[in-house]
Amino acid sequence: MAELNLVLLGPPGSGKGTQGERLRDELELPYWATGDILRAAVREGTDLGKSAKEYMDRGDLVPDEVIVGMIGERIDSGEAADGFILDGFPRTEPQAEALAAKMDELGRRLTAVLLIDVSDEEVVRRLGGRRTCVENGHVFHVEFNPPEIEGVCDVDGSELIVRDDDKPEVIRHRLEQYHAKTAPLVDHYDHKSLLRRIEGAAPPDAVADSIRRTLATLRLEADEAI
Ligand SMILES: [Zn+2]
Repeated sequence: MAELNLVLLGPPGSGKGTQGERLRDELELPYWATGDILRAAVREGTDLGKSAKEYMDRGDLVPDEVIVGMIGERIDSGEAADGFILDGFPRTEPQAEALAAKMDELGRRLTAVLLIDVSDEEVVRRLGGRRTCVENGHVFHVEFNPPEIEGVCDVDGSELIVRDDDKPEVIRHRLEQYHAKTAPLVDHYDHKSLLRRIEGAAPPDAVADSIRRTLATLRLEADEAI
């Protein structure tokens, strides 16, 4: 079986993390959220982890080459022999170039970039409908998981509020930033014929089905190419 080296892209609220975890379980591939890779390297005190920590202690961003180095170490370890699922990196075109160069060095290539496509309206509906309990952080949703009494937590009777992060204007601002950064990245992968768009507005099971169909097609194409 050909290896599956995948990158997941999608806006906040696209359900990308949920799909990534499902893929991890179904395909038995490592699922790497880049923040986790970074924290693990710092915790384990690897050379790259130490270098990353110096930047973080100074309050600076960890440079792309350090992050790419960490991803490279993971790719080169036995855990990724059959492939991997990368989430949260790359986020920009230069990062995509750096990742491609590192993979080239390791004799690997990306199989596909799965973009979980969800409209801005749907993201605002999903994230903007969240209500959080002020006392204990229990989370409800006006549409998908409404409390018994509007504005009151089912568990402890506390008031439910809209957190700042869940306010529509804040969500829209995050989406603007996401689109500005991601659009060139999406074009980049599209030109390389790596991009596969997944309709993300459907329920999670249906999204998982369409990812499965996409991967089956990719495997057919890979077999034919051999
Ligand atoms: Zn509560």
